[in-house]
Amino acid sequence: MSQTIAIIGFPWDEHSSFQRGAAEAPPLIRRGLFSDASNMWTETGIDLGEKGRITDAGDLDLYSSDDAREKIENAISRLLEQNLAPLSLGGDHAVSYPIVRAMRTAHPKLTVVQFDAHPDLYDEFEGDRYSHACPFARIMEEGLADRLIQIGIRTMNAHQRAQAERFGVEVIDMRAWDGALSLTLDSPVYISVDMDVFDPAFAPGVSHREPGGLSVRDVIRAIHGLRATVVGADVVELNPRNDPLGVTAVVCAKLVKELAGKMSGARVREESEGP
Ligand code: MN
Ligand code: MN
Repeated sequence: MSQTIAIIGFPWDEHSSFQRGAAEAPPLIRRGLFSDASNMWTETGIDLGEKGRITDAGDLDLYSSDDAREKIENAISRLLEQNLAPLSLGGDHAVSYPIVRAMRTAHPKLTVVQFDAHPDLYDEFEGDRYSHACPFARIMEEGLADRLIQIGIRTMNAHQRAQAERFGVEVIDMRAWDGALSLTLDSPVYISVDMDVFDPAFAPGVSHREPGGLSVRDVIRAIHGLRATVVGADVVELNPRNDPLGVTAVVCAKLVKELAGKMSGARVREESEGP
C-alpha cells in the first residue's frame, strides 16, 4: 500500500540572514498546489487527489516562539508516529535541522539529499549557530545523516569547504553538473530543496539570488531519476516578497507534487522497510 503524505507548513524565518519573508510562504505554496490552474496528477502518473494520498496537517504556529525548533521536531515526530510521510513547506532553511532530527529517530539509516546554491555548513553565521546558513553543520555534527549529498552548490568558500571535508559531505557543485544526475541510494532518503538552487530566471522569489543555477526540469529529472526510498522532504526559502508574479510559488507547488509522487511508494517507519 502506498504511503500517505502529510503536508505541513513552518512559517518561520527568524534565523534568516539578509532578508525576512520566507515565513509568508506556506499558504502561497498551498494555493499553487490546490489551484484550478492545474490538476493533482504527477508527471509519473499518480493522482495525488485520490483519497489517502495527501493529508494537510496545516501550519504550525511559530510566531515569536522561543522553542520553535522543539515545536517543529515534535510536529514531525507526531506525523511519523501516525505513519505519515512529512512533506514540509518552509520557512527558511533553518527548519531542516529540527525536521531531520525527528526523521533520524524513525530512520537509523538516513541519507540527506540537499538541493541548494549554498552549502549551509557554516559553524555559525553572524553569531547565530541556528542561522539558515548553518543547518547542515548541525545535522552532520549530531550524526543525523549517514550521508549528505549536496547538489547545485555555487557559493562554496574556504570555511565551508573545510566543513564539507570535515563532515565528509559529497558535493556535486554546478561546475560538476552535467545535466544527467542519476543517484542510487540503498538507505532511506530525505530530500531538502532550497528554492535558490534554481537559476533566478526560473525562481526569482528567494532571498539570496544566485545566478548560474539549475532549471526546473533539471531538478524534476533528478528527483524522478533517484533510485531510493524517499521518506520525507522539504521545500524551503521561497520569499514571497521577492516573487511579485507568484511564479516561484508555482515552482514550489510543482516540486511538492513531484516530491509527493516520489514519496508515495515509500514507507515511513524503519520496521516496515523490509530486509
Ligand atoms: Mn540557499
Ligand atoms: Mn539553504
